[in-house]
Amino acid sequence: MDSVDVIVVGGGIVGLATAYRLQEQHPRKTILVLEKEEAVARHQTGHNSGVLHAGIYYKPGSLKATTCRTGKQAMIGFCQRHGLPHRICGKVIVATGDEERPRLRDLFERGRANGVDCEMIDRDRLRELEPHAAGVEAIHVRETGIVDFRQVCDQLAALLREAGQGVRTGVKVTGFRETADEVRVATSAGELRARWVVNCAGLYSDHLARAAGIDPGVRIIPFRGEYYEVDPTAASLCRALIYPVPDPRFPFLGVHFTRMISGQVECGPNAVLAFAREGYRKSNLHLAELIESLTYPGFLKLAARHWRMGAGEMWRSFNKAAFVKALQRLVPEVHARQLHPAAAGVRAQAVAPDGTQLDDFAIRETRRMVHVLNAPSPAATASLSIGRAIVEKLTCHF
Ligand SMILES: Cc1cc2nc3c(=O)[nH]c(=O)nc-3n(C[C@H](O)[C@H](O)[C@H](O)COP(=O)(O)OP(=O)(O)OC[C@H]3O[C@@H](n4cnc5c(N)ncnc54)[C@H](O)[C@@H]3O)c2cc1C
Repeated sequence: MDSVDVIVVGGGIVGLATAYRLQEQHPRKTILVLEKEEAVARHQTGHNSGVLHAGIYYKPGSLKATTCRTGKQAMIGFCQRHGLPHRICGKVIVATGDEERPRLRDLFERGRANGVDCEMIDRDRLRELEPHAAGVEAIHVRETGIVDFRQVCDQLAALLREAGQGVRTGVKVTGFRETADEVRVATSAGELRARWVVNCAGLYSDHLARAAGIDPGVRIIPFRGEYYEVDPTAASLCRALIYPVPDPRFPFLGVHFTRMISGQVECGPNAVLAFAREGYRKSNLHLAELIESLTYPGFLKLAARHWRMGAGEMWRSFNKAAFVKALQRLVPEVHARQLHPAAAGVRAQAVAPDGTQLDDFAIRETRRMVHVLNAPSPAATASLSIGRAIVEKLTCHF
């Protein structure tokens, strides 16, 4: 199949959900998903916390807020229809001191504005829900859930193949040439052609946008998030999900406890600059990519503005005791000996030249291409709605 209607670059959850929505709404169109790894969901999608976010954190009216709400419902429906394990377990966001109460209250108001099923709870109710969590007050978000996004991706890929569409792994896209009638796509398996292309390349979405001749206006800065797994003997310290009150200056939610769908409890992630876009270990270094981050004016401004926070995150990355101390603010009984290093994830965070971290999802289009330039958390939760939004954009051009 050298020529198809739509090529989707990237077999993460955003690419697969887009292809799935496209097949659903335009079953006569031919679709080909191209993924450079040997299997789907090997990057952000396969290395995340597996949380079905309810949508409490996001600015009302933003793409994040709207697609998180509708996407979560769609994801639950998808899991139910296909028998995929998921659970609505609820979560608590905990103020550990009086100084955090105003921010907790603001978050609660935001959640209400977004239509999230949540309530303010006192220390006693918190203790009933999470007996080992410390805190003076909390928000109980009843409708938060957990899922395995890798399984969701395997199912999406299987459904696409069953419908006769292509999902090719081990094929790397290296360039594009958009003409009046089509897009020529250069790949490691030779040139392919499509009438339309969607770029869902996650950590490399800016590179691919540039390869298509577009100035993305942002650069992806990779932030590694490290996790620890809680020893099964101590897993009872967390029943569901225990989160801190996030610092509104940063897009990250702070280290939290997550009971995964497998039953394991993980804690993390922190956020440190990764020395490679797919650098899952401290020792992974890709010199060109590191230089690309370190010489980007946007990153330098970001680092200058938040150096104290960045240094703290680095310190916690190299010092387990410091990481554990952050966790003990939420669950004081947890001990370093109960925590074992677990696989890390790397977030693709789009940063503007002025050092601003793009908060909302960002999508850019040309006549024949759609580029997803910023799809950080909660994009996995929201993926089926992001996919629908992308298909709407494509439909205008069909
Ligand atoms: C540590 C961490 C925790 C998170 N927790 C949550 C959570 O609990 N809930 C939630 O909703 N979200 C969470 N997120 C966010 C969520 O995982 C991402 O928003 C989502 O997975 C993004 O999906 P994606 O398809 O855009 O990117 P990816 O999953 O990274 O997929 C992009 C794909 O494109 C491929 N690709 C790149 N370049 C090329 C190329 N040149 N040719 C072919 N293929 C290419 C890559 O190999 C990759 O498979 C978390 C993210 C991280 C990192």
